[in-house]
Amino acid sequence: MSSAILALLACIVLLDNSIFYSVNLSADTESGSVVRPGDTLKFTADCTVLGIHFNRSSSLEINTSSTQSTADENGNVAISKDALTGEEITVNVLYNSKIRKLNQSYNYLVKYSLKSSIDERGIILEPERIDVLVTKSRFLPKNYVPDDLITVNVKFLSSYNKMQKEAANALENLFTNAKKQGYTLYGISAYRSYDLQRKLYNKFVSLIGAKKASIRVALPGGSEHQTGLGVDITSKSAVDKGIKFGSPKESKWVEDNAYKYGFILRYPKGAEDITGYMYEPWHLRYVGVNLAKKIYESGLTFEEYMLK
Ligand SMILES: [Zn+2]
Repeated sequence: MSSAILALLACIVLLDNSIFYSVNLSADTESGSVVRPGDTLKFTADCTVLGIHFNRSSSLEINTSSTQSTADENGNVAISKDALTGEEITVNVLYNSKIRKLNQSYNYLVKYSLKSSIDERGIILEPERIDVLVTKSRFLPKNYVPDDLITVNVKFLSSYNKMQKEAANALENLFTNAKKQGYTLYGISAYRSYDLQRKLYNKFVSLIGAKKASIRVALPGGSEHQTGLGVDITSKSAVDKGIKFGSPKESKWVEDNAYKYGFILRYPKGAEDITGYMYEPWHLRYVGVNLAKKIYESGLTFEEYMLK
């Protein structure tokens, strides 16, 4: 090591103990901001000693509250690409030298970017995400089939009884708990392939015309049923009465409790202009417990929550 560097190091050590010493912690992304999966946040410690600035970011001790983010030695925190929408990440930044101790917390909310999650034709780039938003202008790829579809272990009124494993387990729990409240729920239709959607759409068009069909049934690739995360349900009482789901009581129970199991009511009442679909009390969409709770508490539709 050259003597100049040694002298500089000695200076830093000396000045570290000086009273003419100030430290300022900062972040390149303001606390309270929305961050994207794959983002890197930078935290900086700026020290001023006798009017001279030093960047001391390498001496920061950084801890994050989420397993979906990792801190490195240079003050950077990388948000995992798998971080889910609705996840809150707290980053604790500590500057700890011999005579200065400074602590600061920063909070962030993860949401993926709607704009960069589709290509120019509106095709969704990461259809396997649990928080994927499918709408009339955001389509699933033609060949997309979820890789962990399993048969849901509840009574279904059709053979379309498969969902992604996590969603299937959640639906089983939802139905079990509904039963405890006296509501016997059935599945009608869950995963539907692109090809099936195409057939369904064409059938509706031939029966009621393209305009009416567009608010009743999705264009091929535009249905959440292809994600293996959407499901239409009904109830024993509705079937007995020959009506669509459900009686006001059981429908309300599902509306008020589905989020606890990770489901949202995807097409709520009065949101036709936003979702593009009429009120569908029977259509549930699995997004995970954390995000479902956030959407439920916000009183917003899924698309509004993503844009907020
Ligand atoms: Zn549906």
